[in-house]
Amino acid sequence: MAPDCLFCRIIKKEIPSKFVHEDEHAIAFEDLNPQAPVHLLIVPRKHIAGLNDAGEDDAALLGHLQLVAAQLAQARGIAESGYRTVFNTGRGAGQSVFHLHLHLLGGRGMRWPPG
Ligand code: AMP
Ligand code: ZN
Repeated sequence: MAPDCLFCRIIKKEIPSKFVHEDEHAIAFEDLNPQAPVHLLIVPRKHIAGLNDAGEDDAALLGHLQLVAAQLAQARGIAESGYRTVFNTGRGAGQSVFHLHLHLLGGRGMRWPPG
């Protein structure tokens, strides 16, 4: 836990958010500024700043985040229409919160390549 980290504070419920999933290793909540009809963030309880800071010890945790995203996509009814899971890594890629999180986006068409 990092005391000044926004997502650590959300995990500790010091800052309210709309939780949609909680388990031993991860939580998920609605993005405050949604970029698609479904926009959830899947966040490990462990404070890892970003993908560059993840190690081999975190391999199962990273896989778990993707599987939680797939479950949530199913629950939200976007599994068949399609969805995107994204880790933004570094400011140049749009990362603004430096506690690793997986975006789950869906419910609308997605362009490729992303901007
Ligand atoms: P990124 O830019 O990839 O680091 O993603 C950070 C995401 O966190 C953005 O999509 C923000 O809209 C979202 N966000 C920022 N503050 C909050 C908050 N208090 N509750 C929920 N989502 C947030
Ligand atoms: Zn944190």
